[in-house]
Amino acid sequence: MVLLKRDCVWKMPSRKFADGEVVMGRWPGSVLYYEVQVTSYDDVAHLYTVKYKDGTELALKESDIRSQSSFKHRKSQSSSSSPSRRSSSRSRSRSRSPGRPAKGRRRSASQSREHKEDKKKTIQETSIALPKPSENNTKRYNGEPESTEKNATSCIILEQKLKPDLEIKRVLEQYSLRSRKDDKKKEEIYSEKKTFVAVKPIEKVSTKTKEMEFGGRIGTFMLVLFMPATVFYLLLMCKQDDPSLLNFPPLPALESLWDWRVFGVILLWFFLQAAFYLLPIGKVVEGLPLSSGRKLQYRINGFYAFILTAAAIGVLLYFEFEFHYLYDHLMQFAVSAAAFSLALSIYLYVRSLKAPEEELAPGGNSGYFIYDFFTGHELNPRIGSFDLKYFCELRPGLIGWVVINLAMLLAEMKIHNLSVPSLSMILVNSFQLLYVVDALWNEEAVLTTMDITHDGFGFMLAFGDLVWVPFVYSLQAFYLVGHPTTISWPVAAAITVLNCIGYYIFRSANSQKNNFRRNPADPKLANLKFIPTATGKGLLVTGWWGFVRHPNYLGDIIMALAWSLPCGFNHILPYFYVIYFICLLVHREARDEHHCKQKYGLAWERYCQRVPYRIFPYIY
Ligand code: NDP
Repeated sequence: MVLLKRDCVWKMPSRKFADGEVVMGRWPGSVLYYEVQVTSYDDVAHLYTVKYKDGTELALKESDIRSQSSFKHRKSQSSSSSPSRRSSSRSRSRSRSPGRPAKGRRRSASQSREHKEDKKKTIQETSIALPKPSENNTKRYNGEPESTEKNATSCIILEQKLKPDLEIKRVLEQYSLRSRKDDKKKEEIYSEKKTFVAVKPIEKVSTKTKEMEFGGRIGTFMLVLFMPATVFYLLLMCKQDDPSLLNFPPLPALESLWDWRVFGVILLWFFLQAAFYLLPIGKVVEGLPLSSGRKLQYRINGFYAFILTAAAIGVLLYFEFEFHYLYDHLMQFAVSAAAFSLALSIYLYVRSLKAPEEELAPGGNSGYFIYDFFTGHELNPRIGSFDLKYFCELRPGLIGWVVINLAMLLAEMKIHNLSVPSLSMILVNSFQLLYVVDALWNEEAVLTTMDITHDGFGFMLAFGDLVWVPFVYSLQAFYLVGHPTTISWPVAAAITVLNCIGYYIFRSANSQKNNFRRNPADPKLANLKFIPTATGKGLLVTGWWGFVRHPNYLGDIIMALAWSLPCGFNHILPYFYVIYFICLLVHREARDEHHCKQKYGLAWERYCQRVPYRIFPYIY
């Protein structure tokens, strides 16, 4: 063992593969090896530039490259050994095993030993792709689940790959959750792995964004115009006595839209929230591993920021600050917030041009300004330890939303001379307050969402977080000020029940996934089953994630409906949110499906077969 470890010490000898040589290159982040041709070698970075058959060029480490002969040998002979084990004669002798019987062939009892040997072989095959210590990337696959049930095999893995103890522990913990009696599933997983070598990847990763989302250049150009236009249209409509769709509002004079004082308040708000974010209160947690294996640290103090903001507003109310001002100047506030988000997006775009490769999101690098500006390219832009995307995701916009709601509630009381707000206004305010407080209380969960782990930070998120959320999501409260709606207590009770159901689904689904991603060995999740995938992460197939493929979206949409219902049925305007939200989440779900299919391949397809409905059970 000692000898083996010494043999495997990580050092970079002089280059092993020559230019023009055809070899097998591992596809980054997967267990797949493809035929590639070496085109050059960087002896400073110790990286080979290789060309795949479809023309994709990637830089690979020597450890991710195997000679073709090693693959042919392994494929054609039943007593194969993993190429990675060549260095050790001892391990090679241990690795020898008879070929795995064809799928469906029956095993006799006397073949049980052979079966065990098969399992070993499986581990050797999959261990090709085990991450190197330097990678420390939990997105990489770690071998067959069976490996965890056998100390001997995990020992082989150790010998072969110098796998860090922690990583092995994580894998052991993860796999221990899987139902061990489900041998059939093991068979399926095995066959899935076998096909991995031959299957073409669904989509190849490239530094250049080839596959554009959101309708590409034209689509994103339209969205850059359409998003601000929609906000202003909705706000103008809401101010009208008759906000019917056909009753188009008169456009205000341009100069009336800008007020430096209002812009000053927006700046003050942003920097006050930034100051709260920087306070050394609240725990610091690690995010999910980046593609480089690095984990960023995040301070979880959004809820404290909310408490401090609430205290500041309490003080302002005590001194009779006129929150009515917000109602009167809502359009100007929206314009100022939009200007600020535009400036931020330009800054983000410029800095993304110089960001290091490993800090970029998979998308946002099409070379087309408008597309890259909209989607954003830098995954986690930071100024020192100040994470701009994480900060904007929940604080200024989300807390701003409930502050606007409160201002609407006060405006309603003032304008209609009420001693207490209307029941509709109370419901809208309380439901949305619950949503915001919940998001801030569970702030850590945002670290596993698509926005943080996948999307770059560009105009889409900057405008979405800082303008769309506070000014469009508060539309129901804004509408109720000008269009009082009376609802009865039983109706209010029914709407409350609906909101609670939505909230329960939303919260428990998000927590289930978040806890599972953070610690698959969590005893609270012991009753859940999952499908292992080639990246090392599992896909839950029981619990909420076995009900529909996006149960959290289902809960969110139910809540959205409950927020609109208190506004009655006189106009469609307060239902804009739920209609838009369904469109957003259906589109988002499709994007996520696409990404997951790329990430998980056959395992995702199996998940889809097992859980056929995407968001709405028996419908979609
Ligand atoms: P999700 O939190 O739903 O995350 C999707 C990811 O979950 C997938 O990419 C995958 O990532 C993982 N996943 C998918 N299926 C499974 C499974 N079976 N088992 C385990 N993990 C799985 O995405 P969002 O970021 O879109 O949403 C987060 C929350 O935010 C939702 O509740 C949503 O409703 C809400 N939201 C609210 C918006 C608003 O404006 N109010 C806007 C957008 C979202 P991986 O495998 O890589 O971990």
